Amino acid sequence: MAECVFHPGVETNVRCVECERPICPKDMVPTPVGYKCRECARPVKSATRFVKPQQWAIGTGVGLAVGLGGGVLIGWVLGIGFWVVYLGFGMLVGEAVRRGTGGHRTPGVAALAAACALLGAIVGGFGEFGLVLGTAAAAVYVLSNRW
Ligand SMILES: [Zn+2]
Ligand SMILES: [Zn+2]
Repeated sequence: MAECVFHPGVETNVRCVECERPICPKDMVPTPVGYKCRECARPVKSATRFVKPQQWAIGTGVGLAVGLGGGVLIGWVLGIGFWVVYLGFGMLVGEAVRRGTGGHRTPGVAALAAACALLGAIVGGFGEFGLVLGTAAAAVYVLSNRW
């Protein structure tokens, strides 16, 4: 049996339908789709809900692939350095990470997107301006989207 995430030492075999973390009877909130933990049941929390470990893994993989791939393509193959390109690059990385992590818009996802964009910008040799712009665009893109 797993241990309740809110009450250490309390064993349970019920998991939240939303974040899949183990919860004990004290934390169960009945919803139309099943029992949710008190964090996921809070409507306000839905935009910043828990990102699963496998979603982090996918998001990191996709983000790195797009970040490094884009960085190499822009910096090495195309050799272009317009601010629009850096901005587009950052947004693309942001979108890739956001989709990879399951559409979450949390500061953690934004940080991951920024890190992937930063790495791609370094590998692509974007220079200081492109580096800052690409990284910022990735983070802002994740946090500002509303769909
Ligand atoms: Zn939950
Ligand atoms: Zn509990």
